[in-house]
Amino acid sequence: MTASVPVIHPFGAPAAEALFDRAKAVIPGGVNSPVRAFQAVGGTPRFPVRGSGPHLTDADGREYVDLVNSWGALLLGHAHPAVVEAVTAAAAKGTSFGAPTEGEVLLAEEIVRRVPAVEQVRLVSSGTEATMSAIRLARAATGRAKVVKFAGCYHGHVDALLASAGSGLLTLALPDSDGVSGAQVTDTIVLPYGDLGVVRELFARHGGEIACLITEAVPANMGVVPPPPGFTAALAEICRDHGALFVADEVITGFRVGPGGWSRVEGVRPDLLTFGKTMGGGVPAAAFGGRADLMGLLAPAGPVYQAGTLSGNPLATAAGLATLSQATGELYARLDRIAADLRAAVSAALSREGVPHRVQHAGSLFSVFFTADEVTDQTSALGQDTAAYRAFFHAMLARGVYLPPSAFEAWFVSAALDDSALSRVYEALAPAAAAAGQASGPTRGGTRASD
Ligand code: PLP
Repeated sequence: MTASVPVIHPFGAPAAEALFDRAKAVIPGGVNSPVRAFQAVGGTPRFPVRGSGPHLTDADGREYVDLVNSWGALLLGHAHPAVVEAVTAAAAKGTSFGAPTEGEVLLAEEIVRRVPAVEQVRLVSSGTEATMSAIRLARAATGRAKVVKFAGCYHGHVDALLASAGSGLLTLALPDSDGVSGAQVTDTIVLPYGDLGVVRELFARHGGEIACLITEAVPANMGVVPPPPGFTAALAEICRDHGALFVADEVITGFRVGPGGWSRVEGVRPDLLTFGKTMGGGVPAAAFGGRADLMGLLAPAGPVYQAGTLSGNPLATAAGLATLSQATGELYARLDRIAADLRAAVSAALSREGVPHRVQHAGSLFSVFFTADEVTDQTSALGQDTAAYRAFFHAMLARGVYLPPSAFEAWFVSAALDDSALSRVYEALAPAAAAAGQASGPTRGGTRASD
């Protein structure tokens, strides 16, 4: 083993520096998922060692109020007693069986109960698996090949969906990925988000070839872009009119923006839906579900193959069920209030410093764009001043508030945020807004995350 010499980092994270150096030697880029690397904001990623309620503590012993919450997976905050108890009890009984368990039945029943459009559901281990499988199912059910998606919507790293995706690809300013061949995306059609005219035109010409249209129920991987009123319902209708399936990706929104996700909020019935994050309570779990006639095509009931060694894992179903058992109407109302207050406070602080910004939200899901213009699609999202975000992010971090390390990601509140944690966030906002004000200006407008 080589001894690493701790370097005093400008932001005071010598243990993180040392760990990141070691990580880079053995893990590509030092991380197991790109946005974690802090490339868009600069500096060294923090290495959490412990989480408790609204806080995480890093390897340097610094405590942060967490507004990322494992990218939305932690609705209840860190180490919620109900989740810890459920996972511990499950682990003591055996961590995996590769055979059906009662926990899977209970979690599937809970999802079906909460989401009107889900008649049957299959559990998988990641959101990527869920969207990949939903698309395979849509192609099998329709006998068609083409898949329509929107620019800036991220659906995991499925080859066919890595065209004009958001999230890490936007953060790193990558249009798509090397290693995805033309053949893999030849049946993928990418449209600008929010433009029904373009969708109608495409379906009028090619409707008979389209297996499905997939959209994030609320796009949140280019920052939060709420669907224009009636947009989602119109997409469902256009699909129906052309015999294509409408797939709502609720990996972020499912069980976060309300008890039954965004489709239930809008009263839309997608043919298929995908879930992840919150439903696993911080342990790997995801799902896809929808109409029973479609889900019945999956093996072993039908001819569409789909499988997973750890699908429906007992630790994951325990964490998911414990989380959902706390996810009551009251809890969602509280999350909405916390998020609304936070949005107002961020906006007020930035306005006081004259920093152009837009705070956009859907339920408790929100993000702050450093631009004066409304963000309606990928192009307008890219118009924001990422230098201002960088300065804002680091000023908040230095004051103990952990924000997403990218201007293109949503902020995630948890029910564990209490008055004392929120006061720390509020106190950090004025200096962070001032830092953003100083950083914006010459580079304002069009600065990309990779600059
Ligand atoms: N779909 C959406 C909307 C997502 O935000 C993500 C991940 O962030 C995924 C799918 C992929 O999920 P996972 O990272 O669990 O593969």
